[in-house]
Amino acid sequence: MTGARVGSALTDEQAAVRDLVREFAAEEVRPTAAVADETETFPEDVWDGLAELGLTGLTVPEEYSGFGADETTYAVANEALAHGSLAVATALSVHCLATSCIAEFGTESQREAWLPEMAETGRPVGMFCLSEPHAGSNPAEMSTTATYDAEADEYVLNGEKQWITNGQRGGVAIVFAKVDGGETDRDDAHATGDDAITQFLVPADTAGFEVGKKEEKLGLRASDTTGITFDDCRIPAENRLTEPGRGLSAAFRTLTEGRIGIAAQAVGVAQAALDEATSYAEEREQFDRPIGDIQTIRHKLAEMSTDVSAARLLVREACRQAEAGEDYRVAASKAKYRASEAAMSVTNEAVQIHGGYGYTTEFDVERLYRDAKITEIYEGTTEVQKTIIARGVFGE
Ligand SMILES: Cc1cc2nc3c(=O)[nH]c(=O)nc-3n(C[C@H](O)[C@H](O)[C@H](O)COP(=O)(O)OP(=O)(O)OC[C@H]3O[C@@H](n4cnc5c(N)ncnc54)[C@H](O)[C@@H]3O)c2cc1C
Repeated sequence: MTGARVGSALTDEQAAVRDLVREFAAEEVRPTAAVADETETFPEDVWDGLAELGLTGLTVPEEYSGFGADETTYAVANEALAHGSLAVATALSVHCLATSCIAEFGTESQREAWLPEMAETGRPVGMFCLSEPHAGSNPAEMSTTATYDAEADEYVLNGEKQWITNGQRGGVAIVFAKVDGGETDRDDAHATGDDAITQFLVPADTAGFEVGKKEEKLGLRASDTTGITFDDCRIPAENRLTEPGRGLSAAFRTLTEGRIGIAAQAVGVAQAALDEATSYAEEREQFDRPIGDIQTIRHKLAEMSTDVSAARLLVREACRQAEAGEDYRVAASKAKYRASEAAMSVTNEAVQIHGGYGYTTEFDVERLYRDAKITEIYEGTTEVQKTIIARGVFGE
């Protein structure tokens, strides 16, 4: 990478992880990214490489064979990986959402049953099933239900989830649903509506777990995104991870952690675009000189570099607050909002600096530009982030 780096007050261990992932991304991930995008195929050998490095266990506690990464380590790993491919980084961060839910909310036997394998081999691949066709920014409107069958001591899931990353590759899903009556261990468990949302651990080979068609997307084309339908999908009652009524707050807590990862990924995409544009500006000549000698282009690169640095610092600040045990929701939203905006503007300018060539698949900036957009949408849109930030402004 040629872009100057700031905010590098990392511990030796954090810097070592960053360098390791950066090297892996440059040697193993980036070279496969264009073909994976074109063929819409997830590079499974890259995934196996991530597992060998221990990265599929990034957020898994060490006692379950994981990496036990702190927030900063998680962020620098995500940034470095997204520099190679946002599709791969997205798949990993969703896998990490699933392992985080099992680690935080699962029983001891569930942790032992799932986490070591998910950490060490990256299999089964994890999914996080919150969004639905009619419930995106407001997941409280979800209509997937879980009905308790007391005789069998099972829950029966019915409903439809949408936009599920790792939908085809995934082996185990964290599924959010509304408990629909039935006996549970809380007095108010018969409540319906938001009060009854909880989360379940659902193996993908359970009868009634049906994977829909793969979405055709603007970017992130190597990452499989599908719908998932639950048709009388029966799971043991012990697979319920949180009490009814606690599921939504659990989802938001997990997503706040995840948001730092997405923000870091956006920084990685922006840094990749800045690096590409810088190299191109050094090589491309017009009017008998490299375009990098033209003041207008130099100012573009200066603005891009400043955007990347500012976004990275916001990510680091969110990590600092999280590690200090502070309420970091607003900081995570600021980081995601500003980093995704930087990813959009920096990739846009990187295409511009490439001129007509930037509009072709011959150059990586074309893919980076298409990929960047998703960072403004998933794990909470920019508008949702601003709503959270505004609440912070008013101290609400
Ligand atoms: C490639 C991809 C991968 C994804 N992966 C996953 C996954 O693994 N798991 C998962 O559960 N979900 C996933 N998602 C879903 C993603 O999180 C949602 O798309 C996102 O939360 C937005 O929801 P929506 O698409 O329904 O948009 P909507 O909620 O319908 O929003 C439409 C527009 O209205 C705006 N809006 C809505 N409400 C408000 C408000 N109150 N104030 C201001 N503006 C508002 C939004 O910001 C947006 O601009 C993925 C999505 C994509 C595209």
